[in-house]
Amino acid sequence: MRFENKVAFVTGSAQGIGRDIALKFAAEGADIVIGDINLEKAAKTQAEIEALGRKAAALELDVTNYSKVTETVNKILDKFGKVDILVNNAGITKDALLLRMGDAEWDAVINVNLKGTFNCTKAVSRLMIKERYGRIINIASIIGIIGNAGQANYSASKAGIIALTKTAARELASRNINVNAVAPGFIQTEMTARLPEELKAKMLSAIPLARFGNPADIASVCAFLASEEAAYITGQTIIVDGGMVMV
Ligand code: NAP
Repeated sequence: MRFENKVAFVTGSAQGIGRDIALKFAAEGADIVIGDINLEKAAKTQAEIEALGRKAAALELDVTNYSKVTETVNKILDKFGKVDILVNNAGITKDALLLRMGDAEWDAVINVNLKGTFNCTKAVSRLMIKERYGRIINIASIIGIIGNAGQANYSASKAGIIALTKTAARELASRNINVNAVAPGFIQTEMTARLPEELKAKMLSAIPLARFGNPADIASVCAFLASEEAAYITGQTIIVDGGMVMV
């Protein structure tokens, strides 16, 4: 029970990786705020967390909108009184080759992935500074490290998250707030389910551990980073990809 009496706010946690992170933290004692654009699915995750005996709130949230983010943070304050752990997980893809990528695809992905992470970090770190405690975990991607054809927007957003993680870690360290990133490889969720089979086969052949990752593989590393065992780690990006990228 590493997170007893802790409140964790996980964005984009109605499904996929975020849902597993929320369930893992709840299983270890945390109360959970699910902030997601999809309220219907978020409510299902809320019910699953409550079944574990924890408090949970599903809040409709678009991370791209700073005034909505501050509204959500105020609701969390009213209900839970604090945020100990923030996981910036909400993310999207809109793939196209560079020459065919329009402003709409570029802006949407940068806005959700990078600006959303900035918005939530800014709003929540204000509270953490007052508490003199906080753990922020940003979900990046190995694509932010190695790039990927067809993902100029996504790779730039995730590289931006890695840089933002380092800056936030430096700015917030003196207030006992640790900021780290997790860079997943290929994880089986709805985001990757729509990829063509031949691309999946090619990716699998590049994974030394010879399997795709599960959301639980990411959740366990997030739990470690949010725990006291990781108290001396900040500004880092932990790659969780079955060995695909070795730096
Ligand atoms: P997912 O299954 O698509 O889940 C993402 C969740 O975020 C969805 O519930 C989605 O709602 C929500 N969301 C989208 N836009 C939002 C917004 N503006 N505000 C709040 N919530 C929003 O994706 P996933 O695979 O679990 O990915 C989670 C994170 O891991 C993302 O940051 C992704 O980039 C990263 N990641 C994933 C992989 C992978 O292989 N799956 C690899 C590396 C990194 P809707 O479904 O309604 O859009």
